[in-house]
Amino acid sequence: MSDKPSPAPSAGAAVANCLFCKIAAGQIPNRKVYEDEQIFAFHDINPWAPVHFLMIPKVHINSMAQLGPEHEALIGRMMALAPRLALEQGCRPYPEGGFRIVTNTGAEGGQEVHHLHLHVMGGPRPWLRG
Ligand code: AMP
Ligand code: ZN
Repeated sequence: MSDKPSPAPSAGAAVANCLFCKIAAGQIPNRKVYEDEQIFAFHDINPWAPVHFLMIPKVHINSMAQLGPEHEALIGRMMALAPRLALEQGCRPYPEGGFRIVTNTGAEGGQEVHHLHLHVMGGPRPWLRG
């Protein structure tokens, strides 16, 4: 019997069946907001606010719960890019305008799509939700 940890059996299947991996790969129609070699952003199909888009890493990461030191630069880039994209998508400038960033994590965190994503929401209130 080996004492090596066995590979997560579902990891490959999770990526193959992942909705947001398919969106980042251009396999599912979406309203693209931004793309570079590491990051993809697109409008949420069911917006809560006048501006509501999602930012995802192109690499599959299930959620914030899986982040480690190796992801610091990537997550930092996403957070630093969000204000620029928010303004480009019609959020008014801070402090009168601004935006909200939400990352649901796990079942009790309200996560439905298990590919890490930032919700970026903004625009004049009232919003539908949030
Ligand atoms: P969460 O509950 O944080 O996992 O959020 C998942 C989000 O993905 C929801 O706000 C959905 O409206 C959004 N969503 C699901 N399918 C699509 C899609 N095909 N294109 C764009 N947004 C989507
Ligand atoms: Zn994915």
